[in-house]
Amino acid sequence: MGKAGKGERELQLYKAKFIIPLNQSTDSVINKVNLNIRVSGFVQGVGFRPFVSRLAKLHFQNGWVANTTDGVCISIEGLPDNQTQFLHDLKNRLPPFAEIQSLSVSQEPLTDYVGFQIQASIIDSKRSTFLLPDIATCPDCLNDLFDRSSRFYRYPFTSCCNCGPRYSIIHSQPFDRVRTSMMEFKPCDECEADYGSIENRRFHAQTIACPKCGPQLHL
Ligand SMILES: [Zn+2]
Ligand SMILES: [Zn+2]
Repeated sequence: MGKAGKGERELQLYKAKFIIPLNQSTDSVINKVNLNIRVSGFVQGVGFRPFVSRLAKLHFQNGWVANTTDGVCISIEGLPDNQTQFLHDLKNRLPPFAEIQSLSVSQEPLTDYVGFQIQASIIDSKRSTFLLPDIATCPDCLNDLFDRSSRFYRYPFTSCCNCGPRYSIIHSQPFDRVRTSMMEFKPCDECEADYGSIENRRFHAQTIACPKCGPQLHL
């Protein structure tokens, strides 16, 4: 998962299909458009769905995002100008370990979504070949680890959307807690609250755990 060939990859991304109405009348500018975006690559276990949710909020898009067995599917509805920005950021402001290998966009009929949700994963017959390795503890989690006021203080299994075990705990794709070794550890109320807060670094972190609810280590 090196950075080699990144320029070439970005060029390919720019060539990716992006279909918006060509009609430049005032009506088309103020009318909402529904876009379906399918992304494959290293897009699971890297905070991709939280990233997409924040982008949707930033660019005034309603709709949903979901893991699929071969990547991530996004449906957004909003104004075309905002969608151009959304797509630009989707390609250029990725979380640290995310990498897009292919991206396709198609226009769909309007659905009149309310808000933006992370939906349950879509299981189908296609399978991704992209599996993430385990990711070393990130600087933010290291801060938590040595912060006496943090509930993660000296907790060896501290992780977030940007770090933690991936390959060593996954049973099958998509990468959701129910398909990992973390399945048996039910998050406590505080972890649930972090998991549900879009501003939190652990928003939808599948490996979220703390001393109260996660795995224990005894020497
Ligand atoms: Zn982290
Ligand atoms: Zn907890």
